[in-house]
Amino acid sequence: MTSFLLTPSLLGKGVYLQLLVEIKLLDDAIIRSNEPEEVLTHHYKELGNRFVIPWRKIKGKLRRLVLEKQRGLDIHPECALKDDLCLNCPACLLFGGTGETSSAKVSYNILSRVMGETFISKSDAGEIESYTLNAVGEKHLKTGQALMTILTVPKETVFIGTVTVKDPTKEMVSIIAENLKRLTRIGARSVEWGRAETTIIHAKLSDREDMSAYYELKATASPRQPDLAILQNLPAVDASYATLNSQLPGLFSDLVTTRSPGKGKKGKEKEETKENPE
Ligand SMILES: [Zn+2]
Repeated sequence: MTSFLLTPSLLGKGVYLQLLVEIKLLDDAIIRSNEPEEVLTHHYKELGNRFVIPWRKIKGKLRRLVLEKQRGLDIHPECALKDDLCLNCPACLLFGGTGETSSAKVSYNILSRVMGETFISKSDAGEIESYTLNAVGEKHLKTGQALMTILTVPKETVFIGTVTVKDPTKEMVSIIAENLKRLTRIGARSVEWGRAETTIIHAKLSDREDMSAYYELKATASPRQPDLAILQNLPAVDASYATLNSQLPGLFSDLVTTRSPGKGKKGKEKEETKENPE
């Protein structure tokens, strides 16, 4: 049976904690995007038109919250997005980072252990109207050249999505679960958004990822029985940051020594540094 890791591991152990997460808008919200590839609505063949929130937006906000809470506990307060990642703290372990581009200038990268997918609205978006406007530069409040798409999403709209923590210890899960609940606005420019309420409705520990918002929404005939048992008895969030932080020096120094030239146990740990994190 799959269980939480006792200490963080550099190498994949094939353990996935999947959280089914609901985000409910408490106010009308405006989603805006100036990224052409950033879809705000999507027509699913079997679900119809739905509002969607790109995972990138949720991940960005969640990472900020994890970092903010960490700083409040005075753990690596120097770690900051985007170019000042320390690559040596709980937030960096969870969300990853690239050594060379960080101010830490370390020789390793960290892969993100928090993964997710597009959040999809539970109800049909009806006939969606979006507006494409000239983007307004934040600093100068001047109309710029870039085009921007703006979309209003009515309050009470509920989105669901999955958030997965790969190879989790109880401490890692405590940090993610607690900060997900603190996610009360979404988007880089939070002021553009209304308030939201984020709830974990189901949690599952498995050796594979087998939940998705799309299939949850499709399976209306046999809705899932929510079960949060696996999240009971997690250590408190403040203690979790401290514990995780105390486990990291050993973990990363191992990585640094294995990267040094010459012989030694270079082989397998190297995998961690090969791929680029998100
Ligand atoms: Zn850091």
